[in-house]
Amino acid sequence: MEIIMFIAAPAAGKGSHAKLLSKKYNLPHISTGDILREISKEDSEIGAYVHETLASGKLVKDDITYKLIEKRIGEMDCKNGFIIDGFPRNYEQALKFDEILNKKNVKLSHVFVLDVDKEILEKRIIGRRTCEDCGRVYNLNNPLERPKQESTCDYCGGHLFQRSDDNIKSFEERYKMYLIKTAPIIEYYEKQGVVTHVDGNHKLEDSFKAIDDIISKDSDISDNNKK
Ligand code: AMP
Repeated sequence: MEIIMFIAAPAAGKGSHAKLLSKKYNLPHISTGDILREISKEDSEIGAYVHETLASGKLVKDDITYKLIEKRIGEMDCKNGFIIDGFPRNYEQALKFDEILNKKNVKLSHVFVLDVDKEILEKRIIGRRTCEDCGRVYNLNNPLERPKQESTCDYCGGHLFQRSDDNIKSFEERYKMYLIKTAPIIEYYEKQGVVTHVDGNHKLEDSFKAIDDIISKDSDISDNNKK
């Protein structure tokens, strides 16, 4: 059972790395941000609450995230492991995650912390565009990640959109939330001996290689999941 977690500030590359690993090792990618973005489209009280909270850059209430994460981890495709990005985001959520893993009698394999400078995060936030059809992520501020046409996906031709929380005002709040609530849980995992810090300031391929070098040595993953 391989359970891989990413902890990092907004736009550090958690989702991009998780997607690459998910493809390479055939493990589901669980992103609480993605699940919440879907809920935010619902025409309901909870949909409206989540929509407003996401746009503000604040954290969604714990009881909502607990329900969605327990349900998702309980699904069949998670039986050989999963990659989790965006949860836990505070100490209470870290305790909840332990409780879920203990109930299943499984252990966290790795926590990758992506270290990225704030100025680089700001640039990525402003330039980030996502394809509404295939989910591919581009960046207008990076020549290596820019689409050929500003609002069209190179791969599927889908429309590229900017997330409602990808603006400087929301970013400042999300970054503050990260420093105050999320970064302190790194120490909690360091005590468990599962943390690897990765420099995420440079090319995605470079940090991906550093991460993959560690994961590919795991016996659990090499037998069951390598394609
Ligand atoms: P992300 O896609 O991970 O950047 O998350 C986008 C937004 O979703 C965050 O700014 C929060 O508002 C919300 N969110 C995602 N994961 C959580 C979580 N574990 N707890 C509370 N809010 C979350």
